[in-house]
Amino acid sequence: MKIVVTGGAGFIGSAFINHLLDNFDCDVLCVDKLTYAGKKENIKHNVSFLQKDICDVTDNDLGDFDYIVHFAAESHVDNSIKNGLPFVRTNVEGTFNLLEISRKNKNLKKFIHISTDEVYGDMDDHFAINHTATEDDNIKPSSYYSSTKAASDMLVFSANRTYGLPYLITRTCNNFGEHQFEEKFLPTITRSINKGKSIPVYGDGKQIREWMYVYDNVKVICDLMFDDEVINQVFNIGTRFRVTNLDIINQIGVILNKKVKIKHVEDRLGHDKKYGLNSSKMENYYRQKHGQFPNFLNLFDYLKKMYGYEMGQK
Ligand code: NAD
Repeated sequence: MKIVVTGGAGFIGSAFINHLLDNFDCDVLCVDKLTYAGKKENIKHNVSFLQKDICDVTDNDLGDFDYIVHFAAESHVDNSIKNGLPFVRTNVEGTFNLLEISRKNKNLKKFIHISTDEVYGDMDDHFAINHTATEDDNIKPSSYYSSTKAASDMLVFSANRTYGLPYLITRTCNNFGEHQFEEKFLPTITRSINKGKSIPVYGDGKQIREWMYVYDNVKVICDLMFDDEVINQVFNIGTRFRVTNLDIINQIGVILNKKVKIKHVEDRLGHDKKYGLNSSKMENYYRQKHGQFPNFLNLFDYLKKMYGYEMGQK
């Protein structure tokens, strides 16, 4: 069995390859351009590696394959505010190119497209208090990042409807874990607190995000990918664990036993106040198929394990 993984040198893609090869016997071809966000060393197994832009790969490059798991993306919202064009190219044109190659591949069992909770937009805009997005909710992205991700979801639906391409789309909440690139929220605040620097907090810091351990996310993706009954479907993958950015910053300060200095800075343009996934479909899937719901690692327990140890608190 051959599996093509795009963006496999990135944060989540590398965790996926590591989980896959720890648990299954298969050939993996990783396709990654190695932008600033990709590091080959994140992958702990020997895999075939093609360093190339997903916009330029050809069917000859990929050969025949059974599954393609598409993580490659420009993924940082702040970068998309400064310049959205690379997001349009990689997230839209790149996905289009992969769909065109995949739909002609006779062996293809499933195109697994990795999407995000951000495509549903700001839950704070909903009239119902505590609304969480189901897979059928309206798509209402706020940034060029989430818009290009939403556009790529739409391309997948069209490839299915027009050419019969078999697919799975996963929409995941914020991931945490090893090898996350330093520009992202958790690495930035941990670094700043450790160095005694003040932490820039967008607006009032009360933005709510839902968090999931990266190895829990990739396990769910794998389980859904290999299940032949899961076909042409969208799955939200979330944990129900939602906290404000300020809560996280304060919690890391407690764990590191360091005083937290907060500097409120002008809010991110178009900043979503709240994300929240309704992941009942996934939860019911596990109850029905596996008899029990997976035990997801809690963000604060992870942070205590990672940083409490260093501080001799464990
Ligand atoms: P990342 O930025 O850490 O990694 C992206 C990878 O894609 C890098 O290895 C990069 O080199 C590669 N890449 C970028 N442009 C490319 C191109 N044109 N051609 C080939 N390779 C290219 O991203 P991540 O955090 O691992 O996210 C992976 C996927 O999961 C993305 O599609 C993202 O939208 C989605 N997602 C991420 C999160 C999160 O919390 N990180 C949450 C929900 C969804």
